[in-house]
Amino acid sequence: MQNGQIDHYKTLGVDRLATFEEIKNRYRQLVLQLHPDKSQNLDTSAYEQVSNAWKVLKDANSRLRYDNEILNKGVKEDGIINENVDLEEMEFNQDTLDYTYGCRCSGNYIINEEDLERGVDIVGCDMCSLKIRVLYELNE
Ligand SMILES: [Zn+2]
Repeated sequence: MQNGQIDHYKTLGVDRLATFEEIKNRYRQLVLQLHPDKSQNLDTSAYEQVSNAWKVLKDANSRLRYDNEILNKGVKEDGIINENVDLEEMEFNQDTLDYTYGCRCSGNYIINEEDLERGVDIVGCDMCSLKIRVLYELNE
């Protein structure tokens, strides 16, 4: 099992854009420092992390797959789209003619009829960086 929480680039102390040579050199350095046979340190977890990172990053294909994984994870964490919400689930406010939907941060997503007419469907929370996609059908 691969642990998605560990950033292999950080483990090796290289840049995301590091070349294979850079990664390889860095790995060799670290292995010399951390190899259980050489170090007095009985904790081998650092060494294991380094060799796991190397296993993933030394191969162009598995590195690409890993890069895509972090990318997808990053998108979720940045809250590009937190949730799809049906317009009917949103609360309509008669006074302001807005539709609101509560964010988990206790902020609100607000979309108004003008936005809907313009075809806007991505709405940001007014308190945090999360966004939702509002699902609705455009009435002509
Ligand atoms: Zn929020």
